[in-house]
Amino acid sequence: MANFRKLDDLGDVAGKVALVRVDLNLPMQDGAVTDDTRIRAALPTIKDLSEKGAKILLLAHFGRPKGKRDPNQSLSLVVGEVEKVLGREVMFIPEISGDVVKQSVGILGNGDIGLLENTRFWPGEEANDVELVKAIAANGDFYVNDAFSAAHRAHATTEGLAHVLPAYAGRSMQAELEALGKALDNPVKPVAAVVGGAKVSSKLDVLKHLVTKVDHLVIGGGMANTFLAARGVNVGKSLCEHDLTGTAEAIMDAADEAGCTIHLPYEVVVSKTFEANPPSLRTTNVHEVAQDEMILDVGPSAVESVGDALKTCRTLVWNGPMGAFETVPFDAATVALAKIAAALTKEGSLVSVAGGGDTVAALHHAGVAGDFSYISTAGGAFLEWMEGRVLPGVKALEI
Ligand code: ADP
Ligand code: MG
Repeated sequence: MANFRKLDDLGDVAGKVALVRVDLNLPMQDGAVTDDTRIRAALPTIKDLSEKGAKILLLAHFGRPKGKRDPNQSLSLVVGEVEKVLGREVMFIPEISGDVVKQSVGILGNGDIGLLENTRFWPGEEANDVELVKAIAANGDFYVNDAFSAAHRAHATTEGLAHVLPAYAGRSMQAELEALGKALDNPVKPVAAVVGGAKVSSKLDVLKHLVTKVDHLVIGGGMANTFLAARGVNVGKSLCEHDLTGTAEAIMDAADEAGCTIHLPYEVVVSKTFEANPPSLRTTNVHEVAQDEMILDVGPSAVESVGDALKTCRTLVWNGPMGAFETVPFDAATVALAKIAAALTKEGSLVSVAGGGDTVAALHHAGVAGDFSYISTAGGAFLEWMEGRVLPGVKALEI
């Protein structure tokens, strides 16, 4: 992976102003923050800079205000929660550039923290407007990007600032880049990828990229049905994108050419109705699905053989559940495979990296999220990375 500056590379920054891009796009319900994971992710960077005596100005977006001030999407709504998690006072500053910010910096002591307003109140943020970039940069001495989850956007505070100020990766950004680097850019081979989820269409570019990168590609979830249909399997009334069977075939051909083994389920769990513990539930060979049945999970024998393949691998990257895991018992394959991957990781024979909104939820449901080498909560940025794309916010940090 390309090189980037880290906080360890900072010289004496006592009294210097750090513009720190973090992810504070927090989930809210009835005016309260429902999950503080993103604040906690920013903690190591904030602590580190504070201990070094820098004055910290946090930059973040919140919701989609589309370039206008909106009191319902002001970061003033979350400053209390940020203070709670940091265990520190945080000064809310209702601007992102100009005299108000300048005066606030004058009030902040070394190591103190200010939170600037929602960057997306200004249209120049999403437009990556150079005038806005310069105006923000005027109040800072250096820039730290700790928001990998926003790095797939080339916005003023995710990309632009890195070009006008000395730029560093924050601790969470660094951890994410190092983990992802080990998973795909520079992995110990053999490498396995597990891709599941609902639809092929949402992950076409992921699949196309992975077949050129990995030794084993395990396809599960609803998207496996399209591949099975492409191989002439009758998938009954399963979720299936019949118009994409040609694309699925092309992906399988590309895999053949690249020496990547594709694993499709040969045994599946089916039902006539989609509900918890349906009366028509059965496990069957994939060639014996009836016209009125749906494939809702991978069968246990098929999971076991995927587990055997994983035992021969040293690296795993996982996105997408194996079945409709929100409904029992269609969580079984995802849970079983997660446990196998977690055990191999604990033994030290596998580096395991997983990401994706539903995938992270499924691994928590399986109770093994903590045993994976790295879990990415970055959503869109994680998927774009799995597509092999260069993330502008990361690229701008490279030296
Ligand atoms: P992620 O958010 O981790 O990227 P996706 O959003 O792509 O994952 O896919 C998750 C969804 O896929 C889940 O809601 C799950 O119920 C659904 N799913 C998985 N397998 C099936 C299946 N066989 N039939 C229908 N839906 C499925
Ligand atoms: Mg999802």
